[in-house]
This record gives sequence, C-alpha cells and structure tokens, in this order.
Amino acid sequence: MTLILGLEGTAWNLSAALVSEERAVYEAESTYKPLHGGIHPREAAQHHASELKKVVSRAFRGAEKEGFSLRDIDAIAFSQGPGMGPCLRTVATAARALSISLNTPLIGVNHCIAHIEIGRWRCGTKDPVVLYVSGANSQVLAYRSGRYRILGETLDIGIGNALDKLARYLGLSHPGGPKIEELASKGAEYVYMPYVVKGMDLSFSGLTTSAKDAINLHHHKTEDVCYSFQETAFAMLTEVTERAMAHLCKDEMLLAGGVGANRRLQQMLQTMCHDRGANFYVPENKYLKDNGTMIAYLGLLMFNSGNTTPIEKSAVNPNYRPDEVEVTWRDVE
Ligand code: AMP
Ligand code: MG
Repeated sequence: MTLILGLEGTAWNLSAALVSEERAVYEAESTYKPLHGGIHPREAAQHHASELKKVVSRAFRGAEKEGFSLRDIDAIAFSQGPGMGPCLRTVATAARALSISLNTPLIGVNHCIAHIEIGRWRCGTKDPVVLYVSGANSQVLAYRSGRYRILGETLDIGIGNALDKLARYLGLSHPGGPKIEELASKGAEYVYMPYVVKGMDLSFSGLTTSAKDAINLHHHKTEDVCYSFQETAFAMLTEVTERAMAHLCKDEMLLAGGVGANRRLQQMLQTMCHDRGANFYVPENKYLKDNGTMIAYLGLLMFNSGNTTPIEKSAVNPNYRPDEVEVTWRDVE
C-alpha cells in the first residue's frame, strides 16, 4: 500500500496531509492572515516557517491514530509551483529535509494540476474541460496527448486577486471573495463594467479600476457594483469555458480553485452545462481552496507511475505552468 505525505504552501495556506491508496487519511493546516492589506510574501513565508513543525507533527499524529506509522510513508510530495517564491522555498526546504531524514523520494508537484486531479478524483469525472480559478490563476484547461493544455487564461491578474483588490478598496479583510459574494447577493441594478475577452483569453484588471470609479466617481451603490463585477467577470469565464467545450466536443466540466466556492459562478456554469447537455462537477469547498490532500494525492498518482523528483531538480518555480508537466499517470488517448 502506498502512503504519501503532501505539503502545500504556495500562498497563504500551509497544509500537510497524508493520502494512502486513494484515501485521504489526515490533513492539518495553518492559515496566514494578513493584519491589513493583501498577502505579503515574506510574512506568509515566515508564518509557514514557524508553523511547519506543528502542522507536520499534527498530520503525523493524526495518521498514527488512523493506524499508520511514519515508516509507512513512501514519498514526500510538495508544491513546486506556481506560487510566491519565499513561500515555495520555505516549504520545499522542509520537504527536502523530510525526504532525507525519512529516506524517501521527493515528488515536486504542479499546484494547478493538483487542483484538477483532486477534483477528478472527488467528483468521478473522467475527461472534463477544467475552469481553474484561484487568487493568482485563471485558466481553462483540458487534457490532450500527455499534457494538460491551457486553452485560455488571464492576460493580467487572476479573478481571485481582482475580487480581493476590490474588497481591499472597500476596507474588507482578506480573503475578499466571500465578502464580495455576500454584498453582490444584495445588488440588483447592473452597472456598466468592461467585458474583456480576447480570443480565448481574459483580462480582469480593468474591472477593478472600473468598479472603483463606479463607487467613487459615479456614486453607485456598493452592492450594485459588486453584483455587476461578479456578473461581468463570471460571464467572461463562462463564455470561454463554453467555447473550449464546444471546440473539443467535451460533455464534462470541472470547476477548481478557491473562487470555485462562489455560488453565483457555480450557478452560471451549471446553467451553461445544462443548456448544452453536459455535466457540471465541483468538489467540496475544502478541496477547492489550497490543501495538502491534493498535493499528496497527485504525489500518489505520480509515485505510482514512477515519476519522482531527484533533489537536484527540486528547485521551486514560481511561474510553473501546467502544460510544462508530462502527465505520466493518464492514458494517452
Ligand atoms: P486559492 O488561491 O485557490 O486558495 O483561492 C483563494 C481565492 O479564492 C481568494 O482570492 C479568495 O478571495 C477567493 N475566494 C474564496 N471564496 C470565494 C467566494 N465564495 N467567492 C469568490 N471568491 C472566493
Ligand atoms: Mg490554488
């Protein structure tokens, strides 16, 4: 039986989890909360460094209660990127130290693909078009010929960061997404926002500026502005996802990443899928946000397909793109 330890810490959530032969055994986490403003990379990395020992020990104790021992661990998986450099380096250093002390292989995992694979696993969807929306990332992807191909993506900031920026402007604490969702649910009047789709790509930074102007210069109600922001951004994402499904003739769609928790986004995608006779899938919220279980699970898939990372190739990559990864655990169709 295979047992993998997964370490996640690309941004604000530090998490350690153990996954055995496709069962989530135990997960422990500690979340950095900025005192004000957004995530400060160095402060987040310092949070991870000071919490790592506690979080990993909690995961080990939890696994022991489930009947596993440290000697059962077959490999240490960690988020190699994309993410914030100082955070990635802190967690990678811990992963290397654990790999050496437990004498087990290391597995560098692409964080975006971990989001996709945990969604496929939890929802039982086989070959979906994926909409991956998180703080820093917004991508539409699908698997083809040994790789996850990026069909469309943001040209500037991720949708989560765009929402967080607007929230910060409104004096709301991080993470802003859920608070904007709450305000948007009370809005009714649509205010003009720039709808920027270029081919299969998207742009969100103008939306934040436009939302600020709508409040500041044009004195629209905050609730209406949040509502309009969501309607515009989510319609853009739904349009590009639908076009990808149409071009590839796929009838499954998977939502991944922290922004996937938004009920209005889920509703729009659900409607789009329903209208074209496709199935819409979204995992539980705890597997949408950054978590160690998804890193351990992708580590397990990679380990079982003979894909480990020698220490000299374990350097982190803050701009690691999912299409750089050779997928060794899926059939080439
Ligand atoms: P991740 O990077 O995958 O952990 O996702 C974090 C991002 O998800 C942050 O930008 C949050 O503001 C955003 N987020 C979390 N919950 C929601 C929600 N209900 N609606 C919109 N955005 C959300
Ligand atoms: Mg993420």
